[in-house]
Parts: sequence; structure tokens; C-alpha cells
Amino acid sequence: MSPRRLRTPRIAPGLARAGALLLGAAAVIAAVASLLGWPHRERTPRPAVVASAALQPDAGAEHPALARLRAHSREFEPTLLKVVDGVHVAIGEGLANSILIEGTDGAVVVDTMESAEAATRVLALFRTVTAKPVRTLVYTHFHPDHTFGASVFAEGRPVEVIAHQRTDALLDEVMDVVSPTIYPRSMRQFGTHLPAEAVPNAGIGPRLDYVEGRNRIALLRPTRTFAESLDLEVAGVRMQLRHAPGETEDQLFVWLPDSRVLLPADNLYRSFPNLYAIRGTPYRDVRRWIASLDAMRALRPAHLVPSHSRPISGEAEVMRVLTDYRDAIQFVHDQTIRWMNAGLAPDEIVERVKLPPHLAANPWLAQHYGRVDWSVRSIHAGQVGWFDGDAARLFPVPPEERARRLQALAGSGRTLAQEAERALAAGELQWAAEMADAALRLAPGDAGLRGTKARALTALAGRQESANARNYLLTAAGELTGEIAIARRDPSKLPLEQLHAFPIDGFMRGLTVRLRAEEALEVERTIGFEFTDIGRHWTLAVRRGVAEVREGRPEAADARLAVSADRWKEIAAGLRGLPATLVTGEARLEGSPVALISTLRLFRD
Ligand SMILES: [Zn+2]
Repeated sequence: MSPRRLRTPRIAPGLARAGALLLGAAAVIAAVASLLGWPHRERTPRPAVVASAALQPDAGAEHPALARLRAHSREFEPTLLKVVDGVHVAIGEGLANSILIEGTDGAVVVDTMESAEAATRVLALFRTVTAKPVRTLVYTHFHPDHTFGASVFAEGRPVEVIAHQRTDALLDEVMDVVSPTIYPRSMRQFGTHLPAEAVPNAGIGPRLDYVEGRNRIALLRPTRTFAESLDLEVAGVRMQLRHAPGETEDQLFVWLPDSRVLLPADNLYRSFPNLYAIRGTPYRDVRRWIASLDAMRALRPAHLVPSHSRPISGEAEVMRVLTDYRDAIQFVHDQTIRWMNAGLAPDEIVERVKLPPHLAANPWLAQHYGRVDWSVRSIHAGQVGWFDGDAARLFPVPPEERARRLQALAGSGRTLAQEAERALAAGELQWAAEMADAALRLAPGDAGLRGTKARALTALAGRQESANARNYLLTAAGELTGEIAIARRDPSKLPLEQLHAFPIDGFMRGLTVRLRAEEALEVERTIGFEFTDIGRHWTLAVRRGVAEVREGRPEAADARLAVSADRWKEIAAGLRGLPATLVTGEARLEGSPVALISTLRLFRD
């Protein structure tokens, strides 16, 4: 598997533009970095890392977590696998896979590795099964591990480069605008600067074969883009490309209808998904991610060839993996929102949201790459931003001052409560609020501490120019002392015509984030709804901790309810009972009343 030497590919017009952009961005970043004395760009190959004790956490007995991570390396053993006739996947030559689709007189390559070096190794493998020229490249998304090796596959010939219409702009964004932040964080996340023996694997691949200065970028810019879908035929192979936002907003999947092979890109691989990447990413919209996985399920693929980790075959197995994967994402999303709506802060929600046992036991959901707790925080931030809702955290004490204050407190012998009182008397209001808040964690509900915190917040409010800040602090103080109580919004208080005016979609989709998952871990039940006045059908499927709601009739159901949309809204708002509505004949039920009522009880507040 020695890398084959290739002649330098002729530079296609797209590459020339990409090269100029890259050089421009690199020069600016390098100049700024050198001004700051920040060794961001490595101009020369990196020096060999001397493995100090600090980089060897694994001396002595091996922790079970490390044993599991090591075992995961089996996924990435270098190989060229044949999936079906004409479809091969190269695994283990870099962080991602590269997929070869062979036609009559040419080939398509889906995803092109992270560097010219990694791509060269993969092309050598592809050339062991076909000599046909690569006519088309497909980027499943803009990430460097799928795009940076592209021109190697062209071998100097013109190629079509297909991607989603947002891919080009996203490439620019990560290269030009946020690179000084993302690059060093990526290097840390992927362990590229660690000695090889300290890195069992990189979670979704053996390693990232890209370090500035050591590897060559061989990016080509997209030449053909699309918005929602693109059907094409290349060298006699029919391919359907579908926009499938999830891991990135430009993500697509590739469906080969004749062989029923699905390439799900990075919306699915053998690890819990990276719903948030610690290298730094904009919010990944997990609801769209789930919808993209559902679009894949609807195709009932026979083979699944992800862009990281090994492929699987067999319709039943593929469906099981796709379903568990989307369920895991929905579980984390819905339960995060459920607890957030119950008033919990992200630090508290991560303590509660753990995958149901059957999902945690699925090797496709082992947390080798993404993690549930990071996902919870990301979903929370994606919905409501950085502020966790506690007024004491609107203006946190700056880090250096915090360190000084903690040092002083450590030597003082004072308790947290005493420190809060001292700070309040001294006019150190923010510190007083934070200390009272910390003390309340040890004595929840303590009236004296609540009063201390309330006084600190009230005094802070008096110093605010921002009306938002003043109002929030004062109201929070009133809630602490019990003088103010904000009632939860109660739909039953809405005037009936307002309630009826809300679309049924919201009532149905809003159900999922109210599921009491801990009571539903063993429940598998399907309910069909027919809203007789508007002629629409919905399916509610409770599946072991997750509620899937989709429009359309269920194939099989434990109960089917037919009722007008307005009556259903009244039932959902608690204005009328379901049994009474059945008795009057305004609702009709087919199947088990117990199944229906016990299922609906899982969604009570
Ligand atoms: Zn990737």
C-alpha cells in the first residue's frame, strides 16, 4: 500500500481560484499570527514530538474507556471494500472514506480525503480495481476531510465537481474568517500534534492526515451545484443527490436506486454523532438532521456506505441502524428541551439526559466521537443562546478576579454563606450573588440564602442602564423572595377561537418534547390520528423513550382516533376529556382504548 507517485495534476480553473484564495488567506493569517507571536502556521514540517510524561496518560493499568476506544480502531483498518459490483469504499487512508462508483466508461468519486497525500494513497487503491477515468467528483459537504484531496483524482483531466449550493461559501468561511480559531482547536481535537502512540484513533477515522506545512491541499471548487435535489446519470450509473442538512447545512446524501446503495455522508457513522464539535461549529440543527435521516429511512436502503467507518448491508440491519441513530438524536433533543422547559439550566440538564439503555448499547452510538452531554449544551444554546437563565450569571466576575477571590476565600475560613453576606455588606454585589447561589446549591431552598441572593440582585438592578437587565434582575429577586410568581403559560386559558386558530401541526409536533421518557423506555406503541374536518392524518409512534410524530396514516396501529381538529385541540389543552368525547360520539376509536389513553398519559406535564 505504498503511495503511488503521481505527476502533478494540471491546474483546473477552479483550483487556480481556490489556490489564490487559499494563499491569500494563508498570508493574512500568517502575518497576523507572526505579529501576535503566535505560532499558528507551521512553515516547516513539524519537529518530532518528544513524548513527555504529560502526553502519556496511559502508563499503568489500562482504563476500560481506553480499551473500548482502542477496540474501535478495528473500524479503520486500511482496506478497499467492495460493497456491490461497481461500488468500492477506501477506508483507513485518512480521516474519512472515499467512495468509488464505477460506470461503463468512467467513474465517480464521492468525497476526496483531507490532503493530496491521503488522496494519492486512495487513488492508488482505486486503480487496482479500475483504470476508468474519474469524470465526476461529489463533495458530500465542505469539510476538509472530504474536499482537500480532490484534484489528485482528476489526474490532470477536467472533472465535474458537484456539491450543494452552499458548499463554496462555507469553504470560504472556514478558510478565511474563523480559521485562526478553528485551526488550533481542530489540531487539538484530532490530536495531530500528539505522538502516534498516544492516539488510538480519531473517533471517525484512524487519524487526520493534514497539518499545515506538512500536507498539500488539492481542493477543487464545485462546478455544478443544486439546492434540494439533483438526479443525474454518469457513465450509465443513475444517482440521486439530496440536500440533507445535519452535520453541516450543506450536507447531501447520494442514493443509487438501481443497487439500493445509500451514501449517508457524515449524518451517520459508527459513533454517537457529533451534534456539537468542540473544535467550534455554528449550531447544528438537530431537528433537520433527524429529518434527513428519516428521508434516508424512507428509501429502505439495502446498503449503507458512510463517509467514516465501515459499510453495512441488509435492509433490516440498515433500517435498525438508521432508526436507532435518529432516535438517539431525537431523544437527546427532546429531553433537553423538555428539561429546559421545566426550568433547568444546561449544567443540570446534562445530569439528567442519558441515552436509553438499548440505544447506549448499540455500537453505532458508542460515544467515541460525539458526546451526549456536549450535545445537550449545544441544543440548549441553539434554542436560547449562552444565557442559562439564572440572573446571577448575567455579569459573571471576570476570571482573574474570580481566582483572586477564591484564593482569599480559601484562606479565610468563611463558609460560602458567610462570604456572600460579607460581600453584600462590602458592596461586592456580583460576587455576593454568585456566592449566595453556590451556597444555595448546598442548602436548596434556604430562605436566608435566597434573601441574600435577592438583595444582591436588587442592588445590582439599581445600577443597570439596560432596561432588560434591570427588569430581569428585579423580577428574579422577587421570585426568590416569593413576592413574584410567573405562571406557566396555560393553553386552557386561551379564548376558544384563539385555540382553534393554532395549526394542528404545532399541537402534534409539540408533543414530542413533552414525552416522559423515563416512563416510556419499554413502550412501543403506534397511534393513528385522523382529523376529520380537515382531512389530515398523523402518526404518533412511541418507541422506547422517543416519540416520532409524522404526517400520514400508520401502516399498523394499536389505536386509531378519528376526531375533528378543534375537538382534539380542546382535549390537548385540557378543556375536555377524551373519554367524554368518545361517549358523545364526537370522537371515534378503533383499537384499544387502554393503548390510546396510556400512551397519551406519557405526555402529561
Ligand atoms: Zn467527515
